[in-house]
Amino acid sequence: MEFVLSKRQLAIREAIHGFAKNVIRPQALTWDREGGIPEDFLRNLIRMAAEMGSATGMTMGPGFEEDVQDEADPAPDSPEPKKKQSHLTSLVAAEEMSWADAGLLLCVPGPGLGGPPVRASGTPSQKERFFGIFKDMSEELRWGAYALTEPGAGSDVAGIRTSCRKEGHEWILNGRKCFITNGGRASWTVVFATVDPALGRAGHRAFVVEKGTPGFGVGRVEEKMGLRASETVELVFEECRVPEENLLGGEESYQSKEGFMTAMKTFDNTRPLVAAMALGIGRAAYDYAKEFIKENYDLSRPIARYAAMADKLARMGRQLEAARMVTWRAAWMADQGQPNAREASMSKAIAGQAAIYACIEAIELCGIEGSIAREHQLLEKWFRDIKVYDIFEGTGNIQRIVISKRLIEGLKGF
Ligand SMILES: Cc1cc2nc3c(=O)[nH]c(=O)nc-3n(C[C@H](O)[C@H](O)[C@H](O)COP(=O)(O)OP(=O)(O)OC[C@H]3O[C@@H](n4cnc5c(N)ncnc54)[C@H](O)[C@@H]3O)c2cc1C
Repeated sequence: MEFVLSKRQLAIREAIHGFAKNVIRPQALTWDREGGIPEDFLRNLIRMAAEMGSATGMTMGPGFEEDVQDEADPAPDSPEPKKKQSHLTSLVAAEEMSWADAGLLLCVPGPGLGGPPVRASGTPSQKERFFGIFKDMSEELRWGAYALTEPGAGSDVAGIRTSCRKEGHEWILNGRKCFITNGGRASWTVVFATVDPALGRAGHRAFVVEKGTPGFGVGRVEEKMGLRASETVELVFEECRVPEENLLGGEESYQSKEGFMTAMKTFDNTRPLVAAMALGIGRAAYDYAKEFIKENYDLSRPIARYAAMADKLARMGRQLEAARMVTWRAAWMADQGQPNAREASMSKAIAGQAAIYACIEAIELCGIEGSIAREHQLLEKWFRDIKVYDIFEGTGNIQRIVISKRLIEGLKGF
């Protein structure tokens, strides 16, 4: 693995950073207070991303990773590592966008968290149908969503109770999903259900449920502490009739544990992305505290309090840097086609903690300034935003369980 970004990745990072600093940041607090982002802004963002994309190869927004092209891969039999770095490039873009406003990143039109399962398990015609609608959003903005969590089945993914049964050429879904990002406005949502809870993972099925499907409704819109610009809703299924061609991957792929595996495969790609978003927020807090201290104190003076400040800053900086390396490695492994479940969980566990630490310490280092909300002083907002990065896509506790399980499995046979 190389520890440097390619020229193109650096250009993408610089382009997003300038835009993030000058255009996104000044509006982040307003969007947070208003609980959403005007569609006109999102429309302009999509147009600009398309223009920048044609110049740099960049695309914005989770779910688009595979559209990012990088240097050509070496010949298939070459010992050289693969050069295609779409996952890594997405991480670099996501960190920069989150440095400006993580809430906005979750609102960017596109397949979102619904993209990875369709890409991983969809049939060719499903991929064409469900991704096709994002190719031209000049007239209408569109989103995809991912609905796994239920009241009573968050960390315990295998315990979902939303039921599905086949009747003729349709599947009938009944149940509720909660905390679904972009669930209210999504054109389609990947929904996990079970044919029989007693079958555990083998009973799971994943469906692409389209907006307007009879029996499919949107329930409560959540009032959240952080990421307030992002829509999070409850979804309700009451005798919801889904055409059989919307069963993700087709009937044959569900003879084993494929439905559950679809959910898990998704996490291997999205956990490093979520880790990169957390790093963006943590770095924003770290950068702010660093500048604040530079302006207000001379840490080279031998005063005990300054030594404690320097120590905190150093700890924030090194934890973020270490977390970034682990996160980039997880994405690099995905780019190489290597299994990365353990590293994906590690990246999310480590980055989430490092970023939470940076946000807490930044508030403390800046004293009273740290708790005031202003256009260019967003510490209190970052403090509210960051906590969820240790909750969604698997909580920190769950990441640690996944890591330890894989480490122990890895020891078998020694
Ligand atoms: C802003 C936001 C957006 C979200 N977006 C989506 C989305 O788009 N799609 C979606 O499907 N879900 C989404 N979620 C849901 C999210 O994935 C769940 O909240 C998360 O998986 C945790 O589930 P839970 O809230 O039910 O908590 P629980 O699973 O009830 O966990 C509660 C606590 O118990 C701990 N715990 C649970 N089990 C264990 C265990 N075995 N060992 C040790 N500790 C344990 C957890 O770590 C946690 O601290 C979102 C959540 C939020 C807050």
